[in-house]
Amino acid sequence: MNEIFKDLTLETSQCINCGFCEAVCPTIPAFDYRTSMGARGRINLAKEFLNGNRVLNFRDPFESCLDCYACFQVCPAHVNSGVVSELMKQAIAEGQVQDQEHQVARMITVLIKKYRDPLGLTKEVTEWSKGLEFDSSYQTILYTGHMYQLMAYNKKLGEMLKSIGELYRFITPLLSSLGNPSFIFSKFYDKKIKERSEAQLKNIYYLLRKAGVKFSYLGEEEPYPGTLMIDMGYVSDFKEYAQTVTDLFHKKGVKNIITVDPHTYDVLINKYKKYVSDFDFNVSFYLDHLNSLNLSKLDKRVTYHEPCHLVRHTDHNVPRDFIKKTAELTLPLHNGKNTYCCGGPIEAFYPKASEKISERRFRELKQTNAEIIVTSCPICFVNLYRDESVMDISELLIKLVK
Ligand code: SF4
Ligand code: SF4
Repeated sequence: MNEIFKDLTLETSQCINCGFCEAVCPTIPAFDYRTSMGARGRINLAKEFLNGNRVLNFRDPFESCLDCYACFQVCPAHVNSGVVSELMKQAIAEGQVQDQEHQVARMITVLIKKYRDPLGLTKEVTEWSKGLEFDSSYQTILYTGHMYQLMAYNKKLGEMLKSIGELYRFITPLLSSLGNPSFIFSKFYDKKIKERSEAQLKNIYYLLRKAGVKFSYLGEEEPYPGTLMIDMGYVSDFKEYAQTVTDLFHKKGVKNIITVDPHTYDVLINKYKKYVSDFDFNVSFYLDHLNSLNLSKLDKRVTYHEPCHLVRHTDHNVPRDFIKKTAELTLPLHNGKNTYCCGGPIEAFYPKASEKISERRFRELKQTNAEIIVTSCPICFVNLYRDESVMDISELLIKLVK
């Protein structure tokens, strides 16, 4: 039995089919209560796969999983349908289910391996740093992981996929064989999001400087961490790629890595440490370094949208503590480990469902009657940004720092 089968059997065999996970899974209402698009349905579908079924549609049910782990929080048998989805995506990517691989996912993997960025945008992702000064030693680096920067391009990619429909099957293999298609992708971005994301990164830079942290930035040499590869099931490619990223950090003399978004933080502390034996760096989240800042109080009610990859995947609560110190914090119905996903992870491939999920979460945040909605993840920010009350935590802190 191969590793995927072993892990899938282990993860699914404890399921008692109680359905508790269905009640909290954001994708099941977003896909009009189709059981295969919810947590329990995914477990049952994985069991079908283990029993030898290879003809059902496995791609949509598992690719539409948000990887939010809400299901795991409520499962009495400690089954994680998010992990089952990760394993099934791996089975699809590694060809164990014929013809169900997503061509766009394959193209992104090829581009990451070739250009160290999902869209080949190695220059564009450094534009936020123009005019800023960095330490000359790479001992401590600010590692953006390209996440804030890619938001503006990801938004357009989703729109492009929607407008070309099934044509993507022909276009994407062509694009990946063309050499670097960044000359196409670099032209399509949301200007407003690009400006806002770059300003958010600059805030992070200034906050760290104000707190006295010395750090450098790898600029055009900074590699994307490979997060999408692992999210889309390309585990073998990810392992190889993560080793090249680790080797580069070693070559540069890096010891400490300061991350700025939950997804990069999660992938480094959970996946790199699992798959790369010499990944021996100190990894932190930028807010961990800001305790010495003198912050004034905000006379406004604030609510906080907790990103799944911080509170569930890594158990990191520092952003929430910062807000508590500076303002009157009112939490939404789903908070802490029971937070509700923003819908962002499936925006490119399932935009309608993603929209329904983020709308629902936005409504819930509004119901707190808070004047400001704060989040600490660029994906959550872009998906929840429905009015001017939504802010990235770096925007709040930069206003309050004395
Ligand atoms: S995965 Fe857990 S919560 Fe979901 S049906 Fe199975 S036992 Fe119940
Ligand atoms: S990880 Fe999230 S989206 Fe995926 S099955 Fe669990 S609750 Fe549903």
